[in-house]
Amino acid sequence: MGYCAVLKCNREATMPYAFWPVCAQHYNELDGGAEYRSQGSEQSATGVASPTLLMGESLRDLNEYTVVEPPTTLEHDMHYPEGALLRLRVKQVGGKETDMTLILPDKALTNLAALLSRHRPKPD
Ligand SMILES: [Zn+2]
Repeated sequence: MGYCAVLKCNREATMPYAFWPVCAQHYNELDGGAEYRSQGSEQSATGVASPTLLMGESLRDLNEYTVVEPPTTLEHDMHYPEGALLRLRVKQVGGKETDMTLILPDKALTNLAALLSRHRPKPD
């Protein structure tokens, strides 16, 4: 069956999980609901590499965050002359929830507002 499809795992794959051959440990983690993201096949010098799964550290290395609480306010604080403050509750993909604050200079805020208004989901 070859090697486990999880990136950086060198163990022998022993069973399939959906489309991917994985080792017993990763099978158990996936079966238990562990987060993962599939990475499409990539061209390599030797041809098309097998799709891989990102889990744990590899997933966190993506440095991606999901906004978990819709923001409701934009703060202006004299101690932040750089711009308006957008406080966000986010969850790192493959990681934990945390708070982060985006400091938005006027130009960034203008562009972001225009961008978001163009891509606003249609109301139900
Ligand atoms: Zn594995």
